[in-house]
Amino acid sequence: MPDISLIDAHCHLDFPAFDADRDQVLQRAREQHIQHIVIPGTQAPFWPRITQLCEQHTHLHACYGLHPYWSTQHREQDLESLKDYLDTHPAVAIGECGLDFRPQQAATEQDRQRQLAFFEAQLALAQTTGLPLVIHAVHATEVVIQTIKSYPGIHGMIHSYSGSLEQAKQLIDLGFCISISGAMTRENAKKIRQVVQAIPLEKLLLETDAPDQPDDKHRGQRNEPAFLLNTLMAVAELRKESAEQIARQASENARRLFKLTC
Ligand SMILES: [Zn+2]
Repeated sequence: MPDISLIDAHCHLDFPAFDADRDQVLQRAREQHIQHIVIPGTQAPFWPRITQLCEQHTHLHACYGLHPYWSTQHREQDLESLKDYLDTHPAVAIGECGLDFRPQQAATEQDRQRQLAFFEAQLALAQTTGLPLVIHAVHATEVVIQTIKSYPGIHGMIHSYSGSLEQAKQLIDLGFCISISGAMTRENAKKIRQVVQAIPLEKLLLETDAPDQPDDKHRGQRNEPAFLLNTLMAVAELRKESAEQIARQASENARRLFKLTC
């Protein structure tokens, strides 16, 4: 497929899961037409490893943020550090931030309030910096919608979207793109597939969320950016549009959102 070029809008390439063979992973990504990869931040101590990777490779792009999955690890002062880090390091977005209300992540009201406090502080930071947001919304799409309504003017993406079509429409109206991961390739992913079919192509992004969430063909394996092509093909089949057209528009959407110049 010589005409295709893709952007992996969300990949944790800095994770130790890639330490042993990161160069080969990047090589395979290039062979599979992945032109750019956006790397979200998760915890303050690990931001520098993203910085280092992005300094080594001009097609990798950094985001910095405090991920809700590790909210008990974050310290209050990490928010101040985030502000400083964004002032002194190039970044294409703030994130990964958001809410993860799976029972094991948010067992108590206190857990939920702690996640919300970190999330809202990052929304406020997006308001003042003008940077887009990379938002994680798991078992919490409705609360995410209600929360971002309190921060007018923000924009960004909802990564590995798992909400309903109705919620996706609301998020699009609030200035957000809907990012589709390999989860949609699973036969039972009815809700996501409905979203993929119905949202405007101008609001759709493609991501792997590697090393997590492999597509159906790679179930049980470590995910990697080279697998993004499978999600593209599944989206094309569902929407009855050409893979080239979807790749072109999704890449343009990512370029516009993250202000990628090349
Ligand atoms: Zn992620």
